[in-house]
Amino acid sequence: MGGKLEKEIYDVLIDYFDNLFVKRDFEQVMASFGQHIRGFGSSKDETMYDFETVYTLHQRDIHQANNPVRYEVDHIVIETPKDDIGLITCELSIETYIHDQKLRFNHVRYTIAMVKKDKQWLIEQKHLSLPTIENEDDEAYPVKQLEARNEALKRLVEDKTNELKTALDEITKLANTDVLSGLANRSSIDRTLGALIDEAKTQNQPLSVVMIDIDNFKQINDTYGHLTGDKIIRGISELLEKHLPSSAFVGRWGGDEFVLFYPKESIKKTYIKVEKLRDLIAKTSFDKVKTVTASFGISEYRERDTIETIIARSDKALYKAKDAGKNCVYPQA
Ligand code: GH3
Ligand code: MG
Repeated sequence: MGGKLEKEIYDVLIDYFDNLFVKRDFEQVMASFGQHIRGFGSSKDETMYDFETVYTLHQRDIHQANNPVRYEVDHIVIETPKDDIGLITCELSIETYIHDQKLRFNHVRYTIAMVKKDKQWLIEQKHLSLPTIENEDDEAYPVKQLEARNEALKRLVEDKTNELKTALDEITKLANTDVLSGLANRSSIDRTLGALIDEAKTQNQPLSVVMIDIDNFKQINDTYGHLTGDKIIRGISELLEKHLPSSAFVGRWGGDEFVLFYPKESIKKTYIKVEKLRDLIAKTSFDKVKTVTASFGISEYRERDTIETIIARSDKALYKAKDAGKNCVYPQA
């Protein structure tokens, strides 16, 4: 490097490149420019005839790809036709990552004009170009193509991920649903009850478990046929689902049996709610069958209960309801 002025200009230039490429510091980059900054970037739309466009384009450039860019300066020539004017010509190699793709440009050509004002060198003109004809008169800068390709790939991956997610949701739903009634099946019942028992234990909250069994269902099947029997199972399932509070859970235990879980509910409160359900079933006509009734057994969570013990107590309560003449609710406190 020649004289003192050239050294000054060189330092200012490297500072500018550091702020632009490495630190990606938009404020500092803008502070390097004089009021009359003009110039051209490498892309078709990067024509800068006023300060505002310089501002907008640099902001876009830095914010769009915030990752640092490695650069090396080559072939630098600095001339100072006057003490307050610096003309710089140089070539840069730059390297960065965009969407995890390494991107390298060699021989990026820069011409920069600086003017010294109040002892400070400011860039008043800059022009950069790339020695490429690959894109002819369109985009000389392949970043946009790369970005477009990545966007397309990203969309494809997202679409596939959504398809897989939908398929997986479907499989999960099927695995947890009873085909005839559409209610939760045994495996879902077991999992839910296990979680509710844990919750009752840790939060020291009540939990009520209800077992339901349709009365004289064999006879209904024998009289009206199994298809009508199926319709009754579906009808009762719909009725339970419709009238259950959102905090409660319903599942088909199997055959003509259903379970209900009432988290955070005592046996007393559950009894009142379940009594209404019993009454509702008894008053509803399902298909050709005028009257269908069901019996209910309730038990409440006790310390050290497991899925088996709490279900066993509800079952025992249900048998008591059957013994008591059916179409009733028996709470096994
Ligand atoms: P109880 O009042 O004592 O409950 O008498 P019940 O006749 O209902 O006897 P139980 O509950 O033991 O019998 C249930 C019957 O439900 C036996 C079986 O034939 C019938 N069943 C089980 N699953 C289905 C089904 O998916 N569809 C139909 N239609 N019937 C079923
Ligand atoms: Mg039955």
